[in-house]
Amino acid sequence: MSPRAWAVATLIGLAVALLLAAVLLVPWSRPPAPRADQLAALRELPAAQVARARAFAGALRPAGYASTAIGLVVALLLGLTPLGAGLVRLVGRPFGQHWIAEAVLGGLAVIFLADLVTLPVAAWRHTVVVRYGISTQGWGGWVGDLLRSYAVTAVIGAVALFAFYAVTRLSPRWWWAFGAAGAALLVTLLSFILPVLVEPVFNRFTPMPASPLRTELLALADRDGVPVRDVLVADASRRTRAVNAYVSGLGPTRRIVVYDTLLREATPAEVTSVVAHELGHARDRDVFTGTLLGALAAALAVVAIYLLGEWAGLLRAAGVTGIALPRALPLLLAVLAVAGVVAAPVQALVSRRLEARADAHALALTDDPDTFAAMQQRLSMVNLSDPDPPRWAYLYSASHPSTVERMAAARAYARRSGR
Ligand SMILES: [Zn+2]
Repeated sequence: MSPRAWAVATLIGLAVALLLAAVLLVPWSRPPAPRADQLAALRELPAAQVARARAFAGALRPAGYASTAIGLVVALLLGLTPLGAGLVRLVGRPFGQHWIAEAVLGGLAVIFLADLVTLPVAAWRHTVVVRYGISTQGWGGWVGDLLRSYAVTAVIGAVALFAFYAVTRLSPRWWWAFGAAGAALLVTLLSFILPVLVEPVFNRFTPMPASPLRTELLALADRDGVPVRDVLVADASRRTRAVNAYVSGLGPTRRIVVYDTLLREATPAEVTSVVAHELGHARDRDVFTGTLLGALAAALAVVAIYLLGEWAGLLRAAGVTGIALPRALPLLLAVLAVAGVVAAPVQALVSRRLEARADAHALALTDDPDTFAAMQQRLSMVNLSDPDPPRWAYLYSASHPSTVERMAAARAYARRSGR
């Protein structure tokens, strides 16, 4: 069998594996709470709160769409015309067109250019979140965060670009197989190791001082069969008023992280409710599910790109002679940008299913639907999230069930448990 035939077989195998994993690991048979319960929940929310959240969401949405549209247009412009290849060649020129210079410096130039064009939109977005009192960051802090995230991108990007183009040179016929394995490995490393390495770049964590709440949270985790090493408090208030909590780390390093904003805004019972939801993610191995789906999709993308390299017209449009050359990186990023836009609603759907299961877990673990509903209302109020967003916005990008769906789930739970 030729490398091409192997690639086609691998592509089919990966697609089947991805489909199977999605069917078996994602809790599909979990219908959302009845719309009547959702509307009842919506009526329970103060009208002024709903109006303010809707105004905020309405002010932010143009920024989101502009950012997606500009990013896509620039990616296509760089990838489907010789512009991107020209930029890579230009950056490589002072280094005698050495492949490492074109691959790493040229590659980073393309990645950052595609990012920089959306910078004005990001700045506009920042003015909106400041105006609505969600962000507590001045421009100095905002720029600092931006530079930190650029540094993280540059380091990971340089390593990935060097490794990828070294492999395409060492194995011109089989690079797609190593590339697919490498992409899957990278996704896995990023999802398990990145949080532990990158969290401290943005936030400071301190152990929660002994208190009835801390004791309660550790007991809750223990009762749930998800032992945690510690409860940490993140100083999120330095940049935001938004509240959150999460469980990170694996096995012996697992810890509960609570935003200091959550401790300030919510009652201890509500904090317990949020942590019970996060324990649900840990217990159902949602990070593993997300990572497996992501790793399979990344491997699939690499093999698909190799096969796309047979399309002479596409290479001609990009002004390159082969898909595995550093100068074809803009073309590769254009393909990935299109794939990202298409995959976004699927990702959002999978995420909402996992979140709904974690909600059900929290309700069962705490057996306190009233506090759960109160917490959802508070989350929506503090984070100014639209409690019942427009259908299309919800389907395209909502990573969580809406506030009214989550409150309705609590009503349904209360009814089932005979309250
Ligand atoms: Zn969650």
